[in-house]
Amino acid sequence: MATLLSRALDLLYPPRCVGCAAFGHNLCEDCSALLLPASGPGRCGRCGVRRDDKGRCPDCFGWRDLDGARAAFEMTGPARRVVHGLKFSGIRDLAEDMADALYPVAAQLSPSATFPIPLHPRRRRARGFNQAEVLFDRLGWPPAPGRLDRIRPTASQVGLSAGERRENVAGAFRYRGPDLKGATVAVLDDVVTTGATAGECARVLREHGAGRVYALAYARAPYRTPTSGASDG
Ligand SMILES: [Zn+2]
Ligand SMILES: [Zn+2]
Repeated sequence: MATLLSRALDLLYPPRCVGCAAFGHNLCEDCSALLLPASGPGRCGRCGVRRDDKGRCPDCFGWRDLDGARAAFEMTGPARRVVHGLKFSGIRDLAEDMADALYPVAAQLSPSATFPIPLHPRRRRARGFNQAEVLFDRLGWPPAPGRLDRIRPTASQVGLSAGERRENVAGAFRYRGPDLKGATVAVLDDVVTTGATAGECARVLREHGAGRVYALAYARAPYRTPTSGASDG
């Protein structure tokens, strides 16, 4: 619901589409039509990337603690612009578009608790916000029964191999709260790439009783090579 202030600001600084710069919306209808759903035939049912030509999944064979990943769109074209618009340009209203796209994906999982993947407090201060928390707030879901914190600062995952990514985030998270008693839980982020970060969160949450743990994200970036420009998931 637009407040009077935000309507006044819209008049002064009308939103522009992150895809084509047209005035009026954060993501216009034409650009929305170009979003590629990260589900459907030809994709791995567990992690959502396209299968290779032999029908195998190139991405999730190394996953131990994640039961799967679900995302609304492939991390390409306008979806990439949306993710970067929120994370790097701080266009928080984009979280509304992202939340709208995430509802149906999340509804299929119906997790009983969802944890936004935390940033280290130092990183959060530098950016001014955590995009996963902004997304979680827009979704309006009830807070999880406990807290997941990042207790160790980690280097960016960009440019690291899948194994290096797992090492980079090992021991970076801590859960404090009641036992999760076999619950299905989701860890939420803007993008999921190798699942290394979500997987480490999953490992910690399993130690505290989580039954199934899924990565839930607005965009699914297939992991290919350390130089493919994948985001920090
Ligand atoms: Zn557009
Ligand atoms: Zn897979």
